[in-house]
This record gives sequence, C-alpha cells and structure tokens, in this order.
Amino acid sequence: MNNFRSRLPNHFDLPKRIHRLGELAYNLWWTWQPEAARVFGRLDYDLWERLGHNPIRLLREIGRPRLNQAADDKDYLALYDRVFEGFDAYMSETETWALITHPELINRPIAYFSMEFGLHETLPIYSGGLGVLAGDHLKEASDLGLPLVGVGFMYAQGFFTQRISEDGWQDALNNELDFVDLPALQVFADDGNRMTVEVEFPDRNVSLALWEIRVGRVPLYLLDSNVESNSDFDKSLTARLYWSDLDHRVMQEVLLGVGGVRMLRALGYNPSVWHMNEGHAAFLTLERARELVASGRTFEQALEKTRGQNIFTTHTPVPAGNDEFPLWLIDKYLAALWPELKVPREKFFDIARHHVPSGETFSMGVLALRNAQGRNAVSELHGRVARRMWHFLWPDRAEDDVPITYVTNGVHTANWMARRLRILIGLHLGEDWMDHLDDPDLWSRLDKIPDPALWEVRMHLKRKLAFYMRERVRDRWKAGGYHPVQVVSSGVMINPYALTIGFARRFATYKRAGLVLSDVDRLLNIINRPNMPVQIIFAGKAHPADEAGKQLIQQVYRQVKRAETSGRLVFLEDYDMNLARYLVQGVDVWMNTPRRPMEASGTSGMKAALNGALNFSVLDGWWREAFNGQNGWAIGDDKDIDSPEVQDGEDAGSLYDTLENEIIPMYYDRDVKEIPHDWIARIKDSMKTVIPQFGTRRMVKEYVERLYVPAVK
Ligand SMILES: *Cc1c(COP(=O)(O)O)cnc(C)c1O
Repeated sequence: MNNFRSRLPNHFDLPKRIHRLGELAYNLWWTWQPEAARVFGRLDYDLWERLGHNPIRLLREIGRPRLNQAADDKDYLALYDRVFEGFDAYMSETETWALITHPELINRPIAYFSMEFGLHETLPIYSGGLGVLAGDHLKEASDLGLPLVGVGFMYAQGFFTQRISEDGWQDALNNELDFVDLPALQVFADDGNRMTVEVEFPDRNVSLALWEIRVGRVPLYLLDSNVESNSDFDKSLTARLYWSDLDHRVMQEVLLGVGGVRMLRALGYNPSVWHMNEGHAAFLTLERARELVASGRTFEQALEKTRGQNIFTTHTPVPAGNDEFPLWLIDKYLAALWPELKVPREKFFDIARHHVPSGETFSMGVLALRNAQGRNAVSELHGRVARRMWHFLWPDRAEDDVPITYVTNGVHTANWMARRLRILIGLHLGEDWMDHLDDPDLWSRLDKIPDPALWEVRMHLKRKLAFYMRERVRDRWKAGGYHPVQVVSSGVMINPYALTIGFARRFATYKRAGLVLSDVDRLLNIINRPNMPVQIIFAGKAHPADEAGKQLIQQVYRQVKRAETSGRLVFLEDYDMNLARYLVQGVDVWMNTPRRPMEASGTSGMKAALNGALNFSVLDGWWREAFNGQNGWAIGDDKDIDSPEVQDGEDAGSLYDTLENEIIPMYYDRDVKEIPHDWIARIKDSMKTVIPQFGTRRMVKEYVERLYVPAVK
C-alpha cells in the first residue's frame, strides 16, 4: 500500500553486478544482520568505521575502482549473493508468526506513535531507552510479520553530540543533519510533489513533509516541519528532540498526535490499533475524536467509539516525568480545536485535568489514560507504582484494581547480540535458533557450549571493546585540541584481561552514577588489589537543561582523572547505540544503580546479558523479575525504603561487599587453562533465563495477544 509513494534516490554509481547495495542501504534490515553489514564493511573497513557505519555515505564516497574490484571478487560476490538471498526471502516471507497466528490482523495495521526511535547510530532521532525500545519494537514487528506502521519525527539536528571538557563539563553540539546521508526517503503525492499534511494553530497552519524509513518489512513515517511555506520559527519545531521550553513542547506534541493521524490518513492507512509509546502522542486521541465529530457524532460518543482501539504505554514512575501543561498554554495553541470537537472549554479541559499543588494542569498522562482502553506499565513493579500513582482517576476502585497492566520491556536479540556469539550459538543449538528465541527449552540446551569456546568469544569481545576505545582516542588526539587528561580518561590504559564493569546510561540523578564512588577510598582499595585489577567504564549523556545531571558527570569525571585510580576508571564521551553495542558486548559486568522504584524497566542490562555479561543491579524494573540468585548479583534487596539517604547508604554498602567478596574473587578463580568455570556457569544461567524472557520476541507477542488483538475485537 505504501511503497509506491517513496522512491529510492539514484545517487550511487554502482557496477551492475552489485547494484542492489543501494537498495540495501535504504532498508535498516541490514542493521540486525551482521552478514549484511559486512557486505558494506568489506568494501573498506577503515572507511566504514570512519563514516560511522553509514552505508549511504560509504557507497557515495568509496569510488568506482574499489567497487569494480569488488564486483570481480569471487569471495565478495559469494557474500553478496548470500545476503541478498536472505534479504529477498525475508521480504517475501508469507509464513510469519503474525499471519499464521493472527490472520485477523491482515490489512488491519497497528499504528505505533513515539517521539523517538532508536534504530541505528547513523539516525540520531533518539535520546535513550524510550527510543531504543521503540526501534526494537519495530524490528521485532518486522520479524514477526506484524502489520505495523511507525509514526515519529525527522529531527533536523537530531539528538546532540556530547563532548566532555578537561574538567568534566558536558558540552552539547547540535549539528544540522544532512538528510541526503540518511536512510530516509521523501514521500511524494500522486501529482509528483512532496506529500505534506497540515496542522492548524489559532493564528496559522504548519505544514509537515513526510519521510519514510524502511525497517525490514515495517515502514516508519516521520514528520518534518522544515518546509518552504513555514516560518523560520515553525521550521524549528521539529529541529530537536525534547525542547525544554513548554511552548515548543506543546506544539511538537500537537504535531505528533494530530499531524501523525493526518499523515496516516494521507498515506491511505486505516489502523485498527493506535499505540501511544508514552504520553507525548496523546493528542492523537483528540484528532481521532475530531474525525468522528466531523461526521456527526457528539464529543462523548466520539471518545467512546475510539477509546477501544487506543493503547497507552507509560514509562515514568514519577508524576513529574509526565508532560503537564498549564491550562493557558493549551488555550494558546488548542483554542481552535474545541469548537471543532463541539465542546465548551471547561468540558474539554476535564478530559486531561490534573489537580496539582500549584493548581490545575493539562496532563498528557491523564489524557492518554482516560482515552485508551489498553494501558500498561513496563515491568511488574512499575505496574504497581503506576496503579498507585494514577489511582485518583479510578477513585471507586481498590488500588490493585486500577486498570493498568504491565508488559515488561525486552530487547531485539539479533540487533544486540555480537556476531561471534551468534555463530557459536548456531553451531551448538542449531541454525534455526533465531526462530525459537522465546523458547526456554532451546536455551536450556546452552550447556552444550563448552566453557572454553564461550570464554574465547567473551575475551574476543572484550579485546574488541579495548581496541575500539583506543582507536576513538587516537582519532580525537590526532584531530587536536584534546588534553592529555582527556586521553587518559578515555581509556588508553584499559587492560583487556582485567575484570571490566560497565555503567552506561542517561545521567539522571535517580540513576545514581555516583553511588559506586560514594566511598572512594574503599573503591580504590577494591580495584587496585594485586592480581585482581578491576576497571569501570562510565558513559552517558545528561539532558542539556539538566544541571544536576551535568554536575553528576563532572563529579564522576573528576574521580576518573585522578592518578590514584591508575587509569582504571574511564569515562567515554557520546554514549549512543554504537558505543552501547561495544559496551554491552564487551564488558564482564553490567552495573545499574537506580533509586528504587524509579527505573520503570531498564533495558541495557538485557543487552549485556544476552552477550554473556553478568548483571549487578538494584532489584528494580526488569532485573527484579529476572534475578534468581545465581544469574548475576543484586545490589540491596527487594524492599522499599522511604528515606533516600538510608537507601543510598545501604545500597552502597551492599555494592562494595558483593563486589569485593563475591564478584572479583569468582572472576579471578581460574583452572590451569585460565578458564573461570564458576563464572561461566553464571553466564550460562544468565543467558538461559534472560534471553527467552526479556527479548522483544516475547514482548511484542505479549502486546499482540494481550493488547492489540483485544483492541481489534
Ligand atoms: C539500551 C539503551 C538505553 C537504555 O538503557 P537503560 O537500561 O534504560 O539505562 C539508553 N541509551 C542507549 C544508547 C541504549 O542503547
């Protein structure tokens, strides 16, 4: 239904024998197929790395002589043919899980709205976990053959690039993206012009152009206000992810909710389910109601009629994490809407009114919860927190009966698992193991992999991480302007054989990056013991407007650069999906220290576990469900503590004790061949328990069975 509207740009000069490389560059399928990535990489590994794994730039910049050579190279062509055979088989598959299990969904697509999508590092239209979850959701929908269409924004500047000064201060660079370099296709109308949709504000209309991103079999459509007919101000509306000023934010969310519905209509979609990934998209409920009011229904009837098909996933366990707008701001931008909805102002506000200590706000969370039949949190504990938090919307019910369920998050295994590990698993569990990702029986056979073989892959991945870190610093040093302190802090002294702990995530204060540094002397003793060195790699961005988050980075950085840490603490700049991939694949231990219960789910630990790293985390979010006593380690225990100071103290004590007495000795307990069998037993237990349960395979199936299918009926 959709592909004829966008066409592949014809800007590559490719030999005929390998001309389909251009097509592959525009389908992100290659990003979760290591063999397909090698079709690009093998052309020129250095250039491939230097261009940040961007196949479009690679194909434009590599030059015809090298391409001619490849078109003549038997080995290369064998790889090429194998990859395209796989690609064609994938794209034309008819026996998918969704079509076999749920034929009722054929031609009834699910619309999935999200402010951000984390699909690949070359497409910086994500900031963190929420976006990566959305990206993984699309990839899994594609794998399962689920008819789904994504809706979001094409940001002119993307999310910022992080630089850390010699004194640990975060600088945010906002670069204009060149869309010609990105795997985004312009969408055209039948008359040959760019297709646009319009959204009205009281004093003007804003036009939005459309882009298409191909994610395997799933299309993602993105809105872009950078069009000729808009004012400069309106062009800026989709320039960045998460403006901090409320005017920009509310307008952006109107564009997503209202513009997104109109975009799907313009493209000819009639979705059967409307899934809001977080409250940013909640205005879609009003646009859908407006459509029905226009055809003669009352506002109440329209809401009643559309509610059953709306689904809302909440991700924040604190009221302040939800977008709330002052009523005057809604007046300012939405006053034109209530006549169209045929409701008076006060009644309009009732649908999202939230009483807060300072008065009343218009809450996107309330709007979404009231107008969605399916509502879910993202872990069991988060479900409990959400039911307590939103109890006031269902005052007649007991807290436990508040109608918010949970679907624990997952990660897309193929996207995050290292190629070498995939090969090893295929060898021992059968080549079709990817078809049974969510089957615990498959994973129970993991013991078939001999310890030395698994350990060899683990060591390989850690060396790869160490080399990658050094190459990054080398480039920065060569480019000039880098202080020796920054070189040291970026991990040039990393030892690829030492126990390595990763801590990488958004620097929000609740994630408590400073917890492991709360008793620096004790930590220095622990990491500097003879014959048992320990390294900790930190990475993460703070929101540019989050001063406390930036100070936390600085606090960590000031420890990292001290001589006493002997180069064993490292801070890596610019955490993105590429760095995340190296880290979750390369470190031995993945540490997470959120203040319970603030980590709604968390997903990076799942990525680490499926690569054979062990989790060492607070029993919050997903880890509380996954931890069984022997597949990793817990920090603190499964109880609620009201005082943050008390909780910090107890958790820090537990962290140091476990690290010192259990984790480090077990890692360095080796047989004569240097194999740590107890450690590997833990890795196997972790992979067996985490991979089937905390993948998007299980997660998306759960969304289908428990939320999408009931909404279609
Ligand atoms: C997975 C991922 C996240 C989410 O990690 P959390 O566990 O939620 O902290 C954030 N950023 C990037 C780049 C990721 O890949």
